[in-house]
Amino acid sequence: MKAVVKSSPEDGVAGTEVRDCPSPRPGSGEVLLRVAAAAICGTDKHIYHWDPSIQDKVTPPRIYGHEFCGFVEEVGPDSEQSGLAAGDYVSAEMHVVCGYCAQCRRGDGHICANTRILGLHGDGAFAEFVKVPAANVIRLDPRYVPLRVGAFLDALGNAVHTTQVVDMAGKSVAITGFGPIGAMAAAIAEHSGASRIIVTDVSDAALETAREWATRKGFPHLSAYNVRSASDEMRQQIRDETDGGVDVVLEMSGAAAAINFGLDIVRMGGFLSLLGLPSGHSLTIDNYTRNVIFKGVTLQGIIGRRMYSTWQRMLSLLRGGLDVEWIVQAEFEGLEQFHDGMKKFDRHEALKVVFFPEGRAASEKRLAASN
Ligand code: ZN
Repeated sequence: MKAVVKSSPEDGVAGTEVRDCPSPRPGSGEVLLRVAAAAICGTDKHIYHWDPSIQDKVTPPRIYGHEFCGFVEEVGPDSEQSGLAAGDYVSAEMHVVCGYCAQCRRGDGHICANTRILGLHGDGAFAEFVKVPAANVIRLDPRYVPLRVGAFLDALGNAVHTTQVVDMAGKSVAITGFGPIGAMAAAIAEHSGASRIIVTDVSDAALETAREWATRKGFPHLSAYNVRSASDEMRQQIRDETDGGVDVVLEMSGAAAAINFGLDIVRMGGFLSLLGLPSGHSLTIDNYTRNVIFKGVTLQGIIGRRMYSTWQRMLSLLRGGLDVEWIVQAEFEGLEQFHDGMKKFDRHEALKVVFFPEGRAASEKRLAASN
């Protein structure tokens, strides 16, 4: 089968090959999936560029990619209990957790101490086939999850998890960073009844994308701020338009400036849901006494997706009409043009880039036959 392989510990074209690999065989408790559509994630970009942040997690050669949907090709031995059958339309949670550590036993599998991520620690989905534990497979309904959305449920799950910690209805919501997950979070907030959405970014193009989306949705309560040179007037304006400060900040950027900006504009007793990763291990919180302690805010770190309440909520939001398909802004037939797709993602020319390993038409045909 064709696959995208991190072939050597080097940056860019030198370290990634699209080549023929043996198809995986499903072992006990595993299922073999035929990949219909797969999307590039920020983590894949780090793997592609062999950033220091992932060097201890990936050992080449490794097939990468962990956002995808596809069809059950073969159910391995001892997987009958899953009820899965050849042809089923599915996605999969690619964090494989142990089930035995203290977190798993508490029902917090998303922070399992022994998490293995397929596409990093094991082979992933930029391929024609991928094998996954049957327990991690999620059945999808083709009426509500088109291939182009099924391709990035992993990332959409991150966005859902970020919004899952607070009821969004009637709340003012600030989203710091309008990349793909920021865009998904905005869509979820709007869909969930947020009264106002404030988007901050350092890119005028990203803010323009946010404004265009709000106009298209007919959502008049969006304001977008370029925080490259954030001023006290800007902070005051946001407090004024939110009756004293925003109820909840969804932090997507990992930038210290954005996190501090979020703490400045959040209301007393407000909430910050933190998904973005800083480039280093540390960052400085300004006015910690005033902005964190005296304000009485809650900070919630977000990692992965809750297993499996995030998936259930995500599929429920999609059934209810959550519109995120527009976030796919580039698609490619096959995997051969992987480098071109990565270039587009790198240059922020597309929020999401999707590949159809077998070709879109062939996968649409399978989709139509799947129910
Ligand atoms: Zn565990």
